[in-house]
Amino acid sequence: MHRTTTIPVQRTKESRLPGLDINNLPFGTTPTDHLFIARYADGEWTEARIEPFHQLTMSPFALCFHYGQTVFEGMKAFRLEDGNVSIFRLQKHHERFNRSLQRLNMPDVPYELFREGMRQLVALDHRWVPSGKDSALYIRPFVIASEERIKVKTSDEYLFLIVGTPVGHYYARPLRVKVETEFIRAADGGTGYAKCGGNYGGALLPTQRAVEAGYDQVLWTDAQTREFIEESGTMNVLFLIDGILITPALSSTILDGVTRDSILQLARARGIKVQERKISIRELEAALQSDTRVEAFGAGTAAVVAPIESITIGDQAYDCYVGEDAAMFSFKTALQAIRTGKAEDAWGWNEVVVVE
Ligand SMILES: *Cc1c(COP(=O)(O)O)cnc(C)c1O
Repeated sequence: MHRTTTIPVQRTKESRLPGLDINNLPFGTTPTDHLFIARYADGEWTEARIEPFHQLTMSPFALCFHYGQTVFEGMKAFRLEDGNVSIFRLQKHHERFNRSLQRLNMPDVPYELFREGMRQLVALDHRWVPSGKDSALYIRPFVIASEERIKVKTSDEYLFLIVGTPVGHYYARPLRVKVETEFIRAADGGTGYAKCGGNYGGALLPTQRAVEAGYDQVLWTDAQTREFIEESGTMNVLFLIDGILITPALSSTILDGVTRDSILQLARARGIKVQERKISIRELEAALQSDTRVEAFGAGTAAVVAPIESITIGDQAYDCYVGEDAAMFSFKTALQAIRTGKAEDAWGWNEVVVVE
């Protein structure tokens, strides 16, 4: 089923939009009026359709409830200056979606199905795309194993859904993080590079502990030595030390973030020196102890750029630079300008959906 251009649509009888202030909703609470759903059975994706947002009815035997065969993406659509809507870097998200699916031994989702399903859902629900500063329509494509079977096996049946929700900014203030050396997020050869449900379940307890100790999230370290920085919570982490933008190189434990990649491209275009390499706690601590300006920030679709104001290594808390002229804020501003059509889309990142 690659002829997805004619996805059947069942429209809602009554939009939930009137009366909602979509520029001021708590993150991830309010679905748009419709969802996209397709079913995988007998080796192919079928029954693609758009329907009013609804509950799923599934067997308690469905494999996704037991063995973690679930994969998702997190994307955003923005209101362009001209009133149309742009989905940010759809193709790169789709490539990662399939890499995640492959790692979990799940079937690829064809590009046309992903693209058309999303474009048509966004076109139908375009009034849900907010226009406020830092606001966007968050889009969540996901695939779950739906075969009814209590046995560890690769599912033969799946559901692919796309849902959306209007969102504003993610973190209200700069983050305080601690370097985590007890728990790990991902190990070499594991699933860390995939956006699969289990990675996040395992991160909740360490994060809760950090929050109880007064931090916002953890800076993960590597599984072998606990000496090298990996990611910040569920974001990639970048440092600007002495004018050089440094971030851990991609590996089986580092998620290939679209925000990370976009910021690196922007920085390179500006002539900023970029290093994708290992960064040790010791190197970071030495920089924080020196007179050099250190900027640290998380990068991800939800928060875009999340400034880190403090990093605790062992018992010692160090301040990072979060002044208004910090480069990280200029990356965020530049990204927002491209995504809202205020600046030239030099790399072809915007997937434009023309709305009536
Ligand atoms: C999604 C995610 C990121 C950020 O990726 P983006 O494509 O920028 O949203 C980074 N790390 C982890 C673990 C993630 O799940």
